[in-house]
Amino acid sequence: MAESLVVGVDLGGTKIYTALARETGELLAEVKIPTEAAGGVEHVLRRIVRSVREVEKQSGSCGKIVGLAVGVPGTLHPFQGIVYQAPNLGWLDVPLKGLLEEALQMPVAVDNDANLAALGEYVFGAGQRVDDLVYVTVSTGIGSGLILGGKLYTGASFGAGEIGHMTLDREGPLCNCGNRGCLEALASGTAMARLAVELVDQGRGEGILRLAGGKDKITAESVSRAAKAGDEEALMILAAAGRWLGIGLANVINLLNPALLVLGGGAMQAGKPLWEAMEDEIEKRTLRAARRQVQVAPAALGQRSGLMGAVALAIRSHGSFAACQAKAK
Ligand SMILES: [Zn+2]
Repeated sequence: MAESLVVGVDLGGTKIYTALARETGELLAEVKIPTEAAGGVEHVLRRIVRSVREVEKQSGSCGKIVGLAVGVPGTLHPFQGIVYQAPNLGWLDVPLKGLLEEALQMPVAVDNDANLAALGEYVFGAGQRVDDLVYVTVSTGIGSGLILGGKLYTGASFGAGEIGHMTLDREGPLCNCGNRGCLEALASGTAMARLAVELVDQGRGEGILRLAGGKDKITAESVSRAAKAGDEEALMILAAAGRWLGIGLANVINLLNPALLVLGGGAMQAGKPLWEAMEDEIEKRTLRAARRQVQVAPAALGQRSGLMGAVALAIRSHGSFAACQAKAK
């Protein structure tokens, strides 16, 4: 009998990251291709199908794919597989599960990307020995996935985990959601870049401007590069973002008392000044019992947290359930 294999897809606004895996989670092949979201829903679906065919071809395995799971950057109904809204893809009410099942002729499961990153770290990464973990991703936006009591917590209408829209400053900067002073508007990569541009507008931020090569090219990455080169203003921006992040995380720790807080996403690569400011606020603002318990760690799977979560969901949904239960306790 052919070995059962699964496919995990991490669908992002810019890249489609796809892997073929054994039921143990071992990856046999992986491929990353541009999403080309501007091409529309049908185009992106064809690109997903192409990436699946590609990993099949690459692995040369004679196993049989029993199903697929996709992580989507947006709000959705996981059982119906309908993506309500995915701003980075420009999607509204897309019946992704049905469309992909038709195109690929195999069962498909769908979930939110931050939820799957939490699941990936829980099953295969930093959270293998705990049952209460919060995964937080800091990149263009800030999102989170919650594993509580060993289960993915989705809330009453699958909207839980929107840590990025926790209000921290009533009069703060405007957020994409329309509100003011959300964590995302204060500590995301976008927020760091915005602070740098504001400095440049005031005739400051020279070091960052030079490294970026122009005001319109300033990103969180240019801020973090300038900080690594010792630029004071860049260091100040990272520390400010880190403080807001620490305040947001302290709220989460006090509310949920998790054993582990896993941090992923590109902006967390900014390094020490961000982490130190964040840890300082966590230390100051969390209650003793929760602080003693919680560990704060970078994502063990790095860029693969979401991908491995999709693999885990595919195994849980379509494979023999036992494989995922074998995680070390
Ligand atoms: Zn918001």
